[in-house]
Amino acid sequence: MSGAAVAQREIPGRGVGLVAARDIDAGETVVAEHALLVGVSEEFRRVCCASCLAHGAATPCSGCGEVVLCDTCRDPASPWHHGAGHGAVVCAAERVASAWRPPLSAPDRERLRFLGACAELRRAHVVNGDARARARLDAVLRLCPDVGPAGEGIDPREASAAERVRPALEAAVQATIATTEANTAGGGLLRAIAGDAIENAALLAKETKNAFGVMAATRGGDGSHPNDGSDDDRRVRGGAVYELASRVNHACFPNVARFDNFDGVLSSPSHEFYVPHRDGPNPPGPTELRLVAIDKIPAGCEVLMSYLPVSESCARRRRRLRNTFGFGCECERCVIECAWATEDGAATGDEGAYRDASRRAREARDEAAELEADAIADALDRECDEKEEVANQSLDAAELTRRADRIPPTYALWFVRNMCPVDGCGGTLAPPHARADHMTCNYCGERRSDEEFFRRLDAGAG
Ligand SMILES: [Zn+2]
Ligand SMILES: [Zn+2]
Ligand SMILES: [Zn+2]
Ligand SMILES: [Zn+2]
Repeated sequence: MSGAAVAQREIPGRGVGLVAARDIDAGETVVAEHALLVGVSEEFRRVCCASCLAHGAATPCSGCGEVVLCDTCRDPASPWHHGAGHGAVVCAAERVASAWRPPLSAPDRERLRFLGACAELRRAHVVNGDARARARLDAVLRLCPDVGPAGEGIDPREASAAERVRPALEAAVQATIATTEANTAGGGLLRAIAGDAIENAALLAKETKNAFGVMAATRGGDGSHPNDGSDDDRRVRGGAVYELASRVNHACFPNVARFDNFDGVLSSPSHEFYVPHRDGPNPPGPTELRLVAIDKIPAGCEVLMSYLPVSESCARRRRRLRNTFGFGCECERCVIECAWATEDGAATGDEGAYRDASRRAREARDEAAELEADAIADALDRECDEKEEVANQSLDAAELTRRADRIPPTYALWFVRNMCPVDGCGGTLAPPHARADHMTCNYCGERRSDEEFFRRLDAGAG
């Protein structure tokens, strides 16, 4: 790599994004960074490491007993010791949460975990003078959405959630002050570490818009997957927030693919990433993320990733982008697919029932309405999958040919070239380095040689 590959820039109508600062080759790593913060999901807190989200060998935390930690994160000599997710305040928050009455809902417990990790960064700064911890928190606060001094720009759902978990957060902070630091500053230290209401609501809003969902388990190199054929494929083990990668805007046809290292795939032979900028034998850290160029990206062009698996249906993609990220996608692919859906009388992701529930939840500012809207979204997802399956089964050969004929060639080629061929994977293929003669799936690690790709393409055309 010669010089920084990307620069941050204001993109009209889309906030700050990343653009190529020079011509980027296919296979180049354009961003490589560690997570600012990670948080394990409620569903996976006894399975995946609370500090780095690694799946597998994990021991209950000796401090709280509520979450598990991997061997690396438990080892005080490791550079990843209590890495990005399980410091003293989070550990105390787990103890507080387990005894809290009435019990916190699962989403609120995850929010408490995230705000606890933010409070831990404040604590490291205020108590230990750790400027890097404060810089990490500030990096999270710089992410979208922009928030005004009185909390303008924060979704009311986040504001009410921050209010709900605040007592538990303060109890957790109080516990760490009592056990590890003399409370010399009276209530001042508690406030300095727990943060004010607007900052915490802003942090929740930023987490919602910017955290990457880390999927349940990466498939093995042989394509095997413990979750094959079930809903588990959509289960999320946790979330991770990044300084640069969280800036990247969405496209349903992305030009970069995200490779995680939560299961050590960046060091696995199937990926064969070149790491010329790395000194010595240190393996990439557990929360390291890389954005790899799928194609050449000319200087000045925006770097775009897909926030969702590229295999998801048009209706589901659009609903999720609107609900979670707050925008309606008008990319080339959505325009084409929406036209087909309308023609077929299928859903396009703008279902009224869901929109109403979502608006009610915002207005009601209560958790029951919020959970109801989430349940409707899940039901729509399932319905959408079933309808699609039935529709696909009912198509006869003539209709399939008619459909194939109306697909623009560049559109079809994108899927053939970039969608993982492993059944049900939904991952994206990218060349793992600029000189690679193969593509690697960013989710299951499947390798496909360029030779094989051209062979299949010839077979398909002939
Ligand atoms: Zn770990
Ligand atoms: Zn703990
Ligand atoms: Zn789109
Ligand atoms: Zn795959």
